[in-house]
Amino acid sequence: MRPRARLRKPAIITRRLLSLIIRGVAITTTSFAVAFGFLSGATSGNYDPNMFAIGVAALFGAACGGMGIMLSRIRQMKGELRELEARLEEVEDRHWEIKEAQERANSFFEAQGDVIVRRDSSGTVTYVNDAFCALAGRSRDELVGSSFALPVEEQGKAVQHADGTRIYDQKIRSGDGSRWIAWREVTVRSDGESETQSVGRDITDRVMAERALAEARDQAEAANRAKSRFLAMVSHEIRTPLNGILGMADLLGDTPLTPEQTSYVAATKTSGQTLLGFIEEMLDLAKIEAGRLELTAAPFALAGFVEATVELLGPRAQGKGLEICAYIDERLPARVIGDAARLRQVLFNLAGNAIKFTESGGVSIIVEPSEQPDHIAISVRDTGIGIAPENQTRIFAEFEQADSGPTRKFDGIGLGLTISKRIVERMGGTIAIESALGKGSTFRVTIPLRRDGVADVSAFTAPDLHGHNILIIAPAAIEASLLARRLQRWGARTAIVPDENVAAALMPEQPWSAVLVDHALGTGTSAALARLAANASRRLVLVTPAMRHELSALKEAGFTGYLIKPVRAASLAARFSADDAFDHGMAAEEPTIAPIAAPPVVPGGDGLSILVAEDNEINALLMRALLMKLGHHVTMAESGSAAVACWEAARAAGTPFDRVLMDLHMPGMDGIAATRRIRAVEAEDQGLHTPIIALTANVSAEDRDACLAAGMDGFLIKPLDRDQLAEALAASNSAAFAA
Ligand code: ADP
Repeated sequence: MRPRARLRKPAIITRRLLSLIIRGVAITTTSFAVAFGFLSGATSGNYDPNMFAIGVAALFGAACGGMGIMLSRIRQMKGELRELEARLEEVEDRHWEIKEAQERANSFFEAQGDVIVRRDSSGTVTYVNDAFCALAGRSRDELVGSSFALPVEEQGKAVQHADGTRIYDQKIRSGDGSRWIAWREVTVRSDGESETQSVGRDITDRVMAERALAEARDQAEAANRAKSRFLAMVSHEIRTPLNGILGMADLLGDTPLTPEQTSYVAATKTSGQTLLGFIEEMLDLAKIEAGRLELTAAPFALAGFVEATVELLGPRAQGKGLEICAYIDERLPARVIGDAARLRQVLFNLAGNAIKFTESGGVSIIVEPSEQPDHIAISVRDTGIGIAPENQTRIFAEFEQADSGPTRKFDGIGLGLTISKRIVERMGGTIAIESALGKGSTFRVTIPLRRDGVADVSAFTAPDLHGHNILIIAPAAIEASLLARRLQRWGARTAIVPDENVAAALMPEQPWSAVLVDHALGTGTSAALARLAANASRRLVLVTPAMRHELSALKEAGFTGYLIKPVRAASLAARFSADDAFDHGMAAEEPTIAPIAAPPVVPGGDGLSILVAEDNEINALLMRALLMKLGHHVTMAESGSAAVACWEAARAAGTPFDRVLMDLHMPGMDGIAATRRIRAVEAEDQGLHTPIIALTANVSAEDRDACLAAGMDGFLIKPLDRDQLAEALAASNSAAFAA
């Protein structure tokens, strides 16, 4: 029994005793009255014993009946009473429990740190907890019934949830200083009235921490921006003297030199170019970090683009005795829309690394459709040193290299992969690596490249080679297997053999429509194989560009055609076209290697009259020498205003300049202002338009736009390349901007 129930017991006993006494008095009184009735009847004169007996019996019966009824009633009432007592006890227990729970809830409410306040519809406070009293600095009695409001210093934005809850932050002025409170406001019903209950949590510490964090982040971002600016500025400043070094080395190379001096000049140029490469990477990273990497979207021919990129890397790979080749799946669209220049940069980096970290074997670049629609997958595979699993994530971070110890034998600064990854991600693609130490590496780039809406015409017609057997004799497997794969796609049956002995054994086995011999077997062996394969209608030799001088000897030996490595699909198709002959198709096969010191023809024959505005002495000297070597007449001006004055004087004298080369950064009047001035004079006179080409070490899009806006026609980036300079001068219109 619970303690409260035990307390109620004496009251019940008192009530029962009282009812017993009353009942006893009533029964005794009735008994006396009946006994008195009988006695007075018996002592009266007309006493009839029979009637008396009947009366007594009736009375006795009535008494017995009454008593019986009374007894059963008493029993029934006792049962009801017991039931009532039990229910009463139960209700009392429930009441006790509810009270206890309420007390517990109250103490819990008060004990927690959240501040709680309730107001009725008129804003009068109906309830506050202790925490609210403490925050307000007032007692509960003062607050309840008043329209007190906490003093607000700052109000956050309120958000209303679908369930009606309103959430907002407030900065409150309190006795302990300012506190940030996050409020949750809900409408509740109390005694049929609707009230607003606001529960506030003190978030001062959190807000302070967040603000400190935001401040730290802002500082870090500012520092990062400063670093990027510094990188860009330093790189830009280094490019200018580099222009001098590389240009002068070029000029020096054109003078009569001893073989020893020639090798020194070549080393100077190589070192300068390597340094330039590093600077380009740092500039790129600075640009990416500053969020200024802008991608363009223009249509380009996918296969041609990949093959041209691979061809550019060809001499580097072949110089190391490595194979390099590309395979572009024919299911891919012929033309796609994307940023070809940035994609080339990624390919260059991945394939360049593949060459750098491979000592034997080679590199293959395979372009296929990806599983995702409108995506292509480019795999760059090598047979090089490979990368240990623990380094495979790290190498994508800035300045990270798998082997960065002092004994490192490869050059590079560890930015190529970082830049490639950022470019690929910016394009919406991914870059993944598969590699094992000593087993080579595969970098797989998957990027979205939309098909160009214009007619999807392939650059060449694939020959039908069904029923043709083709034998490929090549000591190295990479290019041979990709050639075989392509020939099989065109319907041919192919066999690859690694040396002349196996080839000699295989040749008589069946008739061969064509035999492809890799010149890497040696000129003598290749010639012998051509003679052996005299029955084949096509005998093709695969040569590197460096071996072109062997071609006439190879033709003599019996080859019907040749293919320059890395082989383009279009060249291969051309060799199998019906009317192919040994001397045909040269243009398609020419790799895009820079011509050896053959400057483009200058319009006008006896040179142009060129005004050069350049404040840097060495660069001015270089420019003058380069232009004079190209056969032009040069006038130098060392500032923007001097350039404008020269230009005006020449015009007035009736001998206007044919071109103006304008440095952008000059003291006083800069290149942009000088150009504007020249254009303004031209507009007034409606006179001749002088092509103006900007000279700058800055490659940013803003500079380019500023040049265009000022009315310039071209843009040359320092360090200057002699061929680029010649090309820009030959182009008299704004096409040079596309370079
Ligand atoms: P860098 O080549 O200038 O060092 P990268 O960012 O291009 O910088 O590459 C980072 C590192 O990743 C390289 O130094 C090299 O250790 C590793 N690496 C990249 N490509 C290959 C590869 N194909 N084979 C082996 N190691 C590679």
